[in-house]
Amino acid sequence: MMEAAKLTEEFGCLVFSDRIMKERLPKDIYRAVHKTIERGTHLELDVANCVAAVMKEWAIENGATHFTHWFQPMTGLTAEKHDSFISPQGDGTVIMEFSGKELVKGEPDASSFPSGGLRATFEARGYTAWDPSSPAFIKDGSLYIPTAFCSYGGEALDKKTPLLRSMEALSNEAVRILGLLGVSGVNRVNTTIGSEQEYFLINKDYYKQRKDLLFTGRTLIGASPSKGQEMEDHYFGVIKPKVSMYMHDLDEELWKLGIPVKTKHNEVAPSQHELAPVFETANVAVDHNQLTMEVMKKVADKHNYACLLHEKPFEGINGSGKHNNWSVCTDTGLNLLDPGKHPGENLPFQVFLVAVIAAVDEYAPLLRLSVASAGNDHRLGGNEAPPAIISIFVGDELSEVLKALEEGSAYEGQGKVQMGMGAKVLPHITKDNTDRNRTSPFAFTGNKFEFRMPGSSVSVANANIVLNTAVAEELSKIYEMISGVQGEELEKKLQEVLREMLKAHKRVLFNGNGYTEEWVQEAEKRGLLNLKSLPDAMPYWISESSVKLFTKHSIFTEEELKSRYEILLENYSKSIHIEALTMHEMVRKDLTDGIIAYEKDLTKEVIQKKEVLPGAECALETSVLKTLDSASKEMSDALEKLTLDTAAAEKMEDRPLEQARFYQETVLKDMEELRKPADKAEAMIPEKYLSYPTYGQMLFSLR
Ligand code: ADP
Ligand code: MG
Repeated sequence: MMEAAKLTEEFGCLVFSDRIMKERLPKDIYRAVHKTIERGTHLELDVANCVAAVMKEWAIENGATHFTHWFQPMTGLTAEKHDSFISPQGDGTVIMEFSGKELVKGEPDASSFPSGGLRATFEARGYTAWDPSSPAFIKDGSLYIPTAFCSYGGEALDKKTPLLRSMEALSNEAVRILGLLGVSGVNRVNTTIGSEQEYFLINKDYYKQRKDLLFTGRTLIGASPSKGQEMEDHYFGVIKPKVSMYMHDLDEELWKLGIPVKTKHNEVAPSQHELAPVFETANVAVDHNQLTMEVMKKVADKHNYACLLHEKPFEGINGSGKHNNWSVCTDTGLNLLDPGKHPGENLPFQVFLVAVIAAVDEYAPLLRLSVASAGNDHRLGGNEAPPAIISIFVGDELSEVLKALEEGSAYEGQGKVQMGMGAKVLPHITKDNTDRNRTSPFAFTGNKFEFRMPGSSVSVANANIVLNTAVAEELSKIYEMISGVQGEELEKKLQEVLREMLKAHKRVLFNGNGYTEEWVQEAEKRGLLNLKSLPDAMPYWISESSVKLFTKHSIFTEEELKSRYEILLENYSKSIHIEALTMHEMVRKDLTDGIIAYEKDLTKEVIQKKEVLPGAECALETSVLKTLDSASKEMSDALEKLTLDTAAAEKMEDRPLEQARFYQETVLKDMEELRKPADKAEAMIPEKYLSYPTYGQMLFSLR
């Protein structure tokens, strides 16, 4: 176990960090790299050559033999291909080489990555380009170089490129408007993200015995155990010793990679946990989250666990999400979402707050889409995760600030209030500007917004691309309306603009309980959308408003949007297709086998009993047999329907939206129908007859 004293030394020891660059690069080269990182300027080849040489030396010292361009294709996962540094000298010896060109650009054979039709077959090449703003690192003997991935024609084929573009767009708009507001010296505005990550741990042997977990990441059948999460005894509960060892190991691995993980605790559902890092620049935070998910699985394997990142691995208990804490901060260190002591007088704060409110209301369908997936759709709208309706929680004090703004009255807020905790020995703590609301999908939490809808398994890039771009657009609108107005008039005009925007978008503000049926009705009255599933939301991705937004800020071309539309739909349909086939197999083979074996033994038992005890009633045995028999009949019917519908769905390949809808409305429904008798039957069978572990075994066996 890493000693606390060693932590400061070991933190980031596998990262080609700014400190290492400063130490090892010639001054002018270091400065040139920084200029590229900060301003996105082009990197000259001689600079790249020098950086590559130093990087290679450092990597070899740290045990690396290979390098890889690490990228994030539209599968939502990461991709890598490793090349060694060796260069044969013709005399049977090798030297280690790594050039600037190899650092800056790669050409992976890209034909097998999803492109949504962007990469014509005659030009299957893809390019990876070094992203110097996210540090390279060493893992498993390779130097990992974070890269963007694009096609021959320059179209983005990944999640990093549009994220970087959206950060740029937001920065440009923010700098422009801050200039008007008289906030000086700002050259760049950064998006910051801290993503809290939820996950489940189960025994690895159990995991391997379940086809559904292996193939789809979630359980497709499984009777509920007698105990679920109703006792509320897991959240923040004592962490079990072995789990604690896992968490410790995980922390260490992540720290070495320079990932600032800070918080860990048990979550609401049994065997569910959470990990949270300290926030970082969006681009780095997204890379680090991808890496975190990978390391979580790897370390779990070492501890004989399987780490489940699916959004809904188990029916009947909470699923897992990834809270995306988001803020904007100037390069001079000003957090633009920090209300400060006097939010009523803090103009930049008000501008950004109103811009976020307008952005979330106007582009709600895009935000909803940014978190849509076959997995996450099981979560949103259940009484555990935010509803599929997008609304914003701002809390009491900010509501007052906004009210004053809207009415043009003075806000006489109390600023931060001291909280009396009753007992004198407790230190005074200042009350946050916001109280807590756990049911809101988008909550203001003191000096940042927490977007709670993203699913646990997906990259948070999409959510932040949409958020950054939509806020950039609202800032741009505000700028257009106030630019040209001078002096004292400016503030008056700005107040007027903000007031009008608030009036137009305040319907999205909601401080109440988002889990209630009343809210669903109220939201409908307010005209807020309730897009329950991915197919419901999908058309908005290529709507006029979406195309206009993304093309205006150069985030996506129309072609890039369309390609992503196709990929999302295809992924969705494929996921459900695989689930349907897996469920079919598990029910028909594994469960049926268990039922038959148990029925056989029971029947034998009844016959024998009647021989020994003529006239015996065998009431319990007979009632079990009857239940199993009727469940079998229902299962057989449901299996047949599922088979027919899955085959029908497969044939709709040329109509992707219709196909996705069919999977959602028909195939998923079939699976639910099949699950009912399957779970009923499973609940009757002793565990020894089943070839896979039950919910009770999986969820309550961690030590
Ligand atoms: P809470 O307890 O309200 O959830 P925490 O302080 O625990 O708040 O923070 C939760 C997450 O939000 C952490 O990952 C944290 O680093 C992140 N966070 C804090 N401030 C910011 C910020 N300015 N921008 C982005 N994320 C932030
Ligand atoms: Mg939180």
